[in-house]
Amino acid sequence: MTTEAAPATVVVADERAQLEATLVELEARPQSRYRSTAVPAATVERRAEALGLEDVAMRARLLRAHVLVREGRSERGGRWAHQVLAWAQEREDPFLLARAHRVLSIFYRQVGDLAEGLTHAVQCYSHLTDDEPLTIRARHLMTLAVALDESGSIAEGDRRFREALAIATEVGDVELSLNILNNMAYTAFENDDEAGARALVAQMREVQTRSPRTFSAMELDTIARIEMMSGRYDAVEETLHVMLDGGQSKIEANEGDTPAVCLLTLAEARRLDGRPEAAQEALDRAVLMAEERGLDRVRAQAREEQAALYAATGRFEHAYEEHRAFHRATAALHSAQREARARALQAVFEATEARRASEHFREMAHRDALTGLYNRRYVNERLPALLGEAVVRRTPMSLAILDLDHFKRINDTLSHSTGDTVLQHVAELLLEAATGPMIAARMGGEEFLLIMPGIGLEEAAERCERLRLRIRAYAWGPITGTLPVTASIGVTTSDDGRGTPSSVLSLADRNLYVAKREGRDRVVRDV
Ligand code: GH3
Ligand code: MG
Ligand code: MG
Repeated sequence: MTTEAAPATVVVADERAQLEATLVELEARPQSRYRSTAVPAATVERRAEALGLEDVAMRARLLRAHVLVREGRSERGGRWAHQVLAWAQEREDPFLLARAHRVLSIFYRQVGDLAEGLTHAVQCYSHLTDDEPLTIRARHLMTLAVALDESGSIAEGDRRFREALAIATEVGDVELSLNILNNMAYTAFENDDEAGARALVAQMREVQTRSPRTFSAMELDTIARIEMMSGRYDAVEETLHVMLDGGQSKIEANEGDTPAVCLLTLAEARRLDGRPEAAQEALDRAVLMAEERGLDRVRAQAREEQAALYAATGRFEHAYEEHRAFHRATAALHSAQREARARALQAVFEATEARRASEHFREMAHRDALTGLYNRRYVNERLPALLGEAVVRRTPMSLAILDLDHFKRINDTLSHSTGDTVLQHVAELLLEAATGPMIAARMGGEEFLLIMPGIGLEEAAERCERLRLRIRAYAWGPITGTLPVTASIGVTTSDDGRGTPSSVLSLADRNLYVAKREGRDRVVRDV
């Protein structure tokens, strides 16, 4: 038995499939495990870059951007998400467009730009195609609902929340249902709708008892805050005590700053309940956690709670000092947010500029300076792919070489610059003839090429004949006086894309040679 090495393209296709399968799994991971996607996504991105699979690399990069944004490391997350968005916009890739807009919606809300958050949220939903899985649809609806709510469109937000919840319930996704209910409950809490908030908490409990899943820190915090609305401090204690004993370690690993936020909620409840020492204990733990992990927002909020706690115990001078520290911290946070926004926009600008520059250079390298037609380099790069497509689609591909007759005479009798003008006019006529997917190129000197994908010999020969007549009948008088301008054309057809670029070119060239030999100003095709 022999083992044959697989062709390189097969290996890449195989690896692409593997990397894409990994991405599908990472993208489907529930929100509570979002952090666990960072390392495998980075691995996929590196591998995809090494293989030149740009789209796969972009998808992986977006997953990483999502983690960064959720972790509060917004600046880099926002930049990356913008890079992915620019890439997706350029290629009109709806899959990545929908997802990049979603991450950017979260990013902009986090850095305090609610209007921009809403703009991206609308697009994260509108770019979804009909074949997207229902759970993705529900997730994106939820993002839109949150953004609407935060921008003050409560009823509009509520409608999307309910739609998302209906989908999550229908597909039986408990994690997502709880996620949505949690967002709805928190929104009701923020809008001072105590009855609505309590009803939603009841619904959360009901869904949770039907699954083996425990509440996440974020959900516990929502429930606790709603209990606190009605002054039920014992219920707050009961809800959040898990955050104080060993139980929180598993939750902490995946939830960024939420465990620290829970401790702040607990501190506030204890203070309101008239237990300042217990409140201080919870607050100290929150501060410790915030400082250990660099959670600036929680650290600032802790200062506010500390000020309130000092005031509650009559230490007004301390309270005043702490309050000033809180204001300084808040101002610093806001300036950091502005900075992150500016840098994210800078990334958009850079991505657009880089794209423009590279497009410009690519275009220049592929064009002939005198006529603006594609050049030989472009033909050499493009022809193999065009033949490949013809093989795959089982369609013919025709190719014609056109050479001006006695062109030397024009140069010699008139001038080189008149010759140039003739070449430019011939190029115009070629462009006119190259309709649809056809490509016109100047191969050098007074020799041109017409590539005709999907066109068989008969039609190709007819088109060349029309072009020949057009060139001969053109009003050359003002340019060349009495000197005629005519062309000889050799045309060949590859059935089903058979042959190599050089074999096809040399067949056309042979026909051109026959046309010259037989007296010029004619089209010769394969016999
Ligand atoms: P034939 O009918 O056999 O093709 O005769 P011909 O005179 O067209 O062919 P030949 O290859 O002998 O001459 C081509 C001439 O084209 C020679 C060269 O000076 C001229 N030429 C090549 N490139 C350019 C160009 O960019 N501008 C101008 N004006 N002339 C060019
Ligand atoms: Mg010539
Ligand atoms: Mg020539």
